[in-house]
Amino acid sequence: MTTIKATCHSCGEVDLTPEDILLRIGTGHGSNSYGFSCPTCTQFVEKPADERVVRLLLSGGVMPTLQDIPAEILEPKSGPVITHNDLLEFHQLLASDDWFEALTEKRNSENA
Ligand SMILES: [Zn+2]
Repeated sequence: MTTIKATCHSCGEVDLTPEDILLRIGTGHGSNSYGFSCPTCTQFVEKPADERVVRLLLSGGVMPTLQDIPAEILEPKSGPVITHNDLLEFHQLLASDDWFEALTEKRNSENA
């Protein structure tokens, strides 16, 4: 069993298991946090979790809880993944004057 050391404001360093820790992952900058009920004083301790802490907790087996995730992220996706080359090609296309026509022609020829 993995032991994770955390610090309670009142009791100092405490030993926890991955199940004791609530890891919240949000989409905004600095919106990740973790919390636990201190095994000594039972006080709930909550702290911000930077990327290093999140990685550490995940590698220790903590199951994250997702917060404020836009519904689009959970939608099923189909088709090929967009690559950097696709983005570059799109960027170059947008620089031309007839980009809209070029896109609608491409779409029409793909559907034909
Ligand atoms: Zn405590």
